[in-house]
Amino acid sequence: MNIVLATTNKKKIEEIKDIFEDAGIPLDNVFTLKDFPEYPDVVEDGETFEENAVKKAKTIAERTCITAIADDSGLEVDALGGAPGVFSARYAGEPSDDKKNVEKLLNEMANIPDEKRKARFVCCIAIASPEGEINTFLGYVEGIIGREPKGENGFGYDPVFYPEGHNRTFAEMSGDEKNAMSHRGRAIRQLQGYLKKK
Ligand code: IMP
Repeated sequence: MNIVLATTNKKKIEEIKDIFEDAGIPLDNVFTLKDFPEYPDVVEDGETFEENAVKKAKTIAERTCITAIADDSGLEVDALGGAPGVFSARYAGEPSDDKKNVEKLLNEMANIPDEKRKARFVCCIAIASPEGEINTFLGYVEGIIGREPKGENGFGYDPVFYPEGHNRTFAEMSGDEKNAMSHRGRAIRQLQGYLKKK
């Protein structure tokens, strides 16, 4: 099948491709937004991950006439009332900067004791056909926010996120290890199940 991924984030594109490959779903052509430079960015102004993912997938499918997959994801920290949430990418302002976002998060949480540092990554994936059929899949991974960045892999808040039951951050894990438990991995496996039944 042909798909267009409504992202330009290289790490996300690789993660999504790997997960399709692992599931044995052959992809003929994987396009990304880089292949369609003529279209303006879709503004992520929804209040939920789902609203943003649906808006992106629907708009890109309509524009390109190819089935579009969009994800919107982020980190929800309980002690911060669910922040940074849908603002995760631009938490420390724009342009988006992973290092500054992590620094801001650690500063905001400096006085929060260990037992109250619960957080979760959330990912909503939306798939939209050019004919207007839309489906969404939601994945979560629970964890704890550490006190300093650890590890070099992954992206975003990975260096400070310890998935529940593990003493290494996502940034200290291999891509495969992260995919097996990540919010995006879980949402994509639901998408795989849906695609296999089609
Ligand atoms: P978006 O889904 O492209 O809007 O970006 C969401 C933001 O949430 C990213 O820029 C990261 O800051 C954060 N995020 C989402 N998924 C992950 C992940 O797997 N690891 C680390 N940070 C993530």
